Amino acid sequence: MASDPSERVQAATDAESAFMTLSHDLRLEILLALWDAPGFSLSFSELRKTVGERDSGSFTYHLSELQDHFVAKTDEGYELQYPGHRVLDAIQSGVFHEQVAVGPVELDEHCRSCGGRLTFTYDTDYIARIRCADCGNRALEWPFDPGGIADRDDDAIVAAFDRRTRLVWSCALEGVCPFCAGRIDRELTRRVHEEGACIGVIEQLDRYDEYFARDHPAVVAVDCDRCSFYSFVPVGVVLLTRPAVTGRLHDAGLEVRETPLWDLGFVVDAGAVSVRETDPLCVEVSVVDAPESLGFTVGDSFEVVDETTTEI
Ligand SMILES: [Zn+2]
Ligand SMILES: [Zn+2]
Repeated sequence: MASDPSERVQAATDAESAFMTLSHDLRLEILLALWDAPGFSLSFSELRKTVGERDSGSFTYHLSELQDHFVAKTDEGYELQYPGHRVLDAIQSGVFHEQVAVGPVELDEHCRSCGGRLTFTYDTDYIARIRCADCGNRALEWPFDPGGIADRDDDAIVAAFDRRTRLVWSCALEGVCPFCAGRIDRELTRRVHEEGACIGVIEQLDRYDEYFARDHPAVVAVDCDRCSFYSFVPVGVVLLTRPAVTGRLHDAGLEVRETPLWDLGFVVDAGAVSVRETDPLCVEVSVVDAPESLGFTVGDSFEVVDETTTEI
């Protein structure tokens, strides 16, 4: 979240004025027509004909309101600017106007707690959930856009959810917000227990109790300086972003790219994560599916500082 309230208010005011520019059907139709146009460009008369506006004065006015920000006039005609594309992208993500539900879809992978079959469901709260119907284990949950559902069969939806979630997590772990490109504060954070109650810093953040990996002894807290995005990422995801580690996992017989996130024990198993040192925080992630005893230690700067191997 942005730290300076006055900057946030100013940004919201500026953005409100940009949103207001779009508050007319005809203006959105103009953006859509330019997106659909052959060569992504239309002359004034072609554009007016495409949107079917008879009133020349009205059309000229609404087009001028979009010009130099959402739409540019070039030698070839009118075309979308980057902000115009982003408006259409946001619409196509479906999050503003679509509510869809999918599933439960039975998956090939099994629950790591009880061995039952995992299922995928997507609900109208925009959260995709990988859960075990038998024991209620929440293997993985993360927001997903309705755009990920359209034109895909169930298997493709599930695969897209896996890919998208990896991308969002990796981007956030690299310190770049996957939503606004702003700076992400990252912190390796542990749960602290006192007399049976959790009093660690992560519990002070809203909704942590709702987090699917709330039983992990440590997670990476990610918080965008600029937009509303903040969340937590399992520490094991750090391993997926280090080629030296993924190469080592490949040698151990684990194909991390072909295996869904919810079937990677070092990502989703609370038992795979253990706190080694507390100051600075150092966390060991055990590769529980490897045929040998294999683990990696992640330091507080997210570097993989150590590999531990013991032949069984
Ligand atoms: Zn289960
Ligand atoms: Zn952001």
